[in-house]
This record gives sequence, structure tokens and C-alpha cells, in this order.
Amino acid sequence: MRDDHGTRDASRPSGQEPDPSARLTVLAGPTAVGKGTVSADVRARYPEVWLSVSATTRRPRPGEIDGVHYHFVDDVTFDRMVAEGEFLEWAVVHGRNRYGTPRAAVMERLATGTPALLEIDLAGARQVREAMPEARFVFLAPPSWDELVRRLVGRGTEDEEERERRLATARVELAAEAEFDHVIVNDEVHRATDELIDVMGVRTRSGVGC
Ligand code: 5GP
Repeated sequence: MRDDHGTRDASRPSGQEPDPSARLTVLAGPTAVGKGTVSADVRARYPEVWLSVSATTRRPRPGEIDGVHYHFVDDVTFDRMVAEGEFLEWAVVHGRNRYGTPRAAVMERLATGTPALLEIDLAGARQVREAMPEARFVFLAPPSWDELVRRLVGRGTEDEEERERRLATARVELAAEAEFDHVIVNDEVHRATDELIDVMGVRTRSGVGC
């Protein structure tokens, strides 16, 4: 694991502006670990954090709102966005749909010093590490493999074939934990969210935003 970013920030000479990409945090982890739930909790309880809205070729699920949860686009639009270099990263997730982080929106937020959070898959996290190594990379881990399977089955949004596909991806993704700067165990959503917020440096120990 790499050094904690807080340590690096503390060692920076006073008066020197931090690298804007240090305000960027990437949250990755296996399928069904609860990345979406933790991001929703961040959205609800920490409005000072900006959540990137990905583009995806996946169809919306009931309750998902275009422009809020994702930008739902067709293949032709996604192809155009790739060709025009609009993505900071993009990947085919679970061997099926494409997902990508629109670069311009992220850069705009970072330029204003806003803490930004990307909730993306492992392949995407690796691309961001290449492009922006100063970002923070956080791995959300399940308390156990059995608990991960239980959450995936319990969610009930995928059919049997899709569940098997996602579990296969999850096995590979779990093995990548050591590549990350921080590992947060999602044993309880509010607790995991608070730990993420601490890692992002959004609040001080007294709970006051910085
Ligand atoms: P879901 O279809 O359940 O919303 O998301 C499936 C997976 O896609 C999740 O693991 C999520 O982290 C990942 N994902 C969502 N947006 C992006 C993105 O912009 N880029 C990448 N690489 N993965 C994403």
C-alpha cells in the first residue's frame, strides 16, 4: 500500500497549493459490496462532496434518473464520446455494458477545489491511477465472501446468469485490494461512509468541513 495522502499533505510546505487531483477520490470494490449504497449515503449526508455521474449504455433500472444516477446513452453516443476523448476512463463492466467517467465535469470540479468522488470498477480505477496518480484510491471490501454472495443474491435485481457473471468478476476484483491506498470494510453503511469522508479529508476530527 502507498503512503497515506494525509501524511503527504502534512509534509507539503505551507502556502503551497495542493495538486487539484488530490481532491479526487476513486471508490472501487467488488460487485454488490455496496459502493452504490455508500455513494448514495455520501450524496445524502455530505452534499459538499461532488459525485461524478457516469455515462452508461446500460438500461435504467426502476427509479434511476437520467443525469442523476447515470447519463443513459446509446452505443452510438458512447462510441462518439470515446472517439472524442471525452472520458477520463471507461470500461466494459461484467462483460456487458460500457460505463465511463466524463472527464470535463471532473476537471471543472477539481479546478474549483471541490472534493470529487468516482464510484467505478477496478479497470476504471487503474486507468485513473495512470492518468491522475495523486488521486486517492479506496477499496470497499465486504466483511466476508459469504456476506458478499448474500448481498448479491439478496439484491434480487439480476437473474441467475448475471449473478454468476458478477460473482466471477467479484473474485478477480477482491484480489486487487492490495493495489489500493485505503481499504474500508463495508460492515455498516454509515460507518463506512464516515470512514470514506475521513479519508477524503472532507471533515476534520471535530466534524467541521475543511
Ligand atoms: P450498475 O450497473 O450496478 O449500476 O454498476 C455496475 C458497475 O459499474 C459497478 O461496479 C460500478 O462501480 C461500475 N461503474 C459505474 N460507473 C462507472 C464508470 O464510469 N466507469 C467504470 N469503469 N465503472 C463504472
